[in-house]
Order: sequence, then structure tokens, then C-alpha cells
Amino acid sequence: MIVVMRRDATQEDVQHMIKQVESLGLKPHVLRGTERTVIAAIGDERAAASVGVLESGPGVDEVLPVLAPYKLASLETRSEPTVIRARSLTIGGGHLGVIAGPCSVENEEQIVATAIAVKQAGATALRGGAFKPRTSPYSFQGLKEKGLQMLATARAETGLAVVTEVVAPDDVAMVVEYADVLQIGARNMQNYRLLEEVGRSSRPVLLKRGPSATVDELLLAAEYILDAGNQEVMLCERGIRTYETHTRFTLPLATVPYLQSKTHLPVVVDPSHGTGHTPLVPAMARAAVAAGADGLMVEVHPNPEKALSDGYQSLTPGQFAQMMAECRKVADAMGVQFAS
Ligand code: PEP
Ligand code: MN
Repeated sequence: MIVVMRRDATQEDVQHMIKQVESLGLKPHVLRGTERTVIAAIGDERAAASVGVLESGPGVDEVLPVLAPYKLASLETRSEPTVIRARSLTIGGGHLGVIAGPCSVENEEQIVATAIAVKQAGATALRGGAFKPRTSPYSFQGLKEKGLQMLATARAETGLAVVTEVVAPDDVAMVVEYADVLQIGARNMQNYRLLEEVGRSSRPVLLKRGPSATVDELLLAAEYILDAGNQEVMLCERGIRTYETHTRFTLPLATVPYLQSKTHLPVVVDPSHGTGHTPLVPAMARAAVAAGADGLMVEVHPNPEKALSDGYQSLTPGQFAQMMAECRKVADAMGVQFAS
């Protein structure tokens, strides 16, 4: 449930209510909005049958149940959009962020050249995997810490925020040293230990939807991160597994307005994994902007033919610049602030 404080509630009132929530065996999460403060009381609400104790507290306006299974992610708990800022990247609340770069970091020249090119085309963050969760154990697994160092070099050259995947709880501390945003890949969406670990970290998280996860499961996975204390989570639709084979995955763009009707968290669309074919990527990027997405994540490689992973769905820098020009027109029509 949530304890909605009155506009004129004092700091002491809020502190008092935090203690009251704790005394009921619930975990308080304080959410400060521009208008008023809300205290989300999370836990087994059967233990808190005595809602009256909270309702009669000083500075309390009302106590409301949160009906959604996800509590902190729900719009019922927080009605203002979450805006995530990490260096050059701003996503949410009318700011459209664009995260672009290769599937994998392959060498310094490749990642630096890509970073310069995508920045010039208007990307606001650089992506690149150093830890790669690959379907086959025989495929390129990433350069690990060396790859992270190369990403840091590319950031120093361009100023672009670095978005990179972390695949194991034990690696989080190391990846935090180099990354501005931690990516949780589709395969790990329900790796709850990993979600808790990034939830305790100091970096925003980009959480990708599992290919066979429902939207509610995606929101509940986000809830693990929020409940662990990290309020900076963006959700990423990257396509789901269906019977269709003409695309690598099926990219359901209705996820964007649906999520926006349920959560305050920003919604990013990945048309690269969502289609799996370079020629289909730009149109789905435009469609994602038109659907109201808060961000795009796009794979770009200086020489897709030679890419060590996902070359068949990567854009060249030239194709990416063209895509950006088209997306800018759609964003203008939508009245959203596109990457500058
Ligand atoms: C990626 O972003 O390169 C990636 C591995 O994506 P996903 O986790 O969505 O498959
Ligand atoms: Mn990839």
C-alpha cells in the first residue's frame, strides 16, 4: 500500500510515518515527487491489517492499496515519469535517448570509431558488450575486463555514456567501475540474484525483456531492482519468441503504450534484436518513436560483415545516420525532444 502525505507534511511527519510502517513489519520506500511525498509500504500486507494506524498519522492524506502485483514500478505508487540521467544520456519524461554501438566490443579501434560515428549521428550513449551471453559456448564470449577498458577509452574520446551488459552477480562490482548504465540481458531477466545485486549498485539499469517473459514478469523483474534500492530502471522491449520465423524475434510495439499505462519507468525499444535483419531495423526504430518509446537501442558496426556477433542485424554508421534523420522527423511530429 502507499501512504500519501499531505502537501504541507513536514520532514518530521515523514520520518514518523517511516517508523510506523516499519513497526507493522513492512519496508518503507520514500518517493519524493515534485508535488508531494509518498511512502510505499512493501511486504506482506496481511501483517498490516491495521491500516488505521497509518491513516491517522500526522501529515497523512490517505492510505491506498496498490492493486498491481508490482508495487514500486507501478504508476499507482508514483505518477510522475522516472527520468534517468547518466552523463550524456537522458531518458524518460519526454527525453528520447539513443543508445548505439556494436553488439560486442572487439578491439579498441572498432569501439572508438563506432563511438565517434554514432555520436556524430546523434546517439546519446554508446553500447557494446564486453561480457556476452551467447547461445553457443563456442561463440565469441566477449573481451571481459579488456573490453570494459576499451569502452572507457571510447567514453573518454567522445563523452558518451557507456551501456554494457553484466551477466553474473560476482561481476557487478567490476562492471560498475567502467559502466554508466548496467544492462541486464534478455537471458538474465529472471536471474533474481543478479537483479538484486544491480539493485544494490549505484548505476542505472537497462532491463531487457526475456524472449518468453510476459510484460507482468518484466515489471516484476524490475521490481526486484527497485526493491533492492535502485530506483533508476529502464525497461527494454527487444522482441519475443513466437512461431514466426521471418524475423529473429517478434517485436511487439504495443508493449510501449501498455507499459506506459502501468509504470513510470522509461521504455526503450531495441529494433536490432527485435527484427534480426539490418534492412528491417530503421522502419521499426521509426515505429518505436511513433509509438512513444522513451529510447532506442540500436546495434551499429563499422563493418557488419566482419562483426564477431550480430552483424546480420547491425547498421553501418551511414545507415544509422540515415535512420537518425528519419527518426528525428517522427520525434518532431510527436513533440518529443530527440537526442541533440
Ligand atoms: C545484446 O544487447 O547484445 C543482447 C545480447 O541482447 P538480448 O539480451 O536482448 O538478447
Ligand atoms: Mn547483440
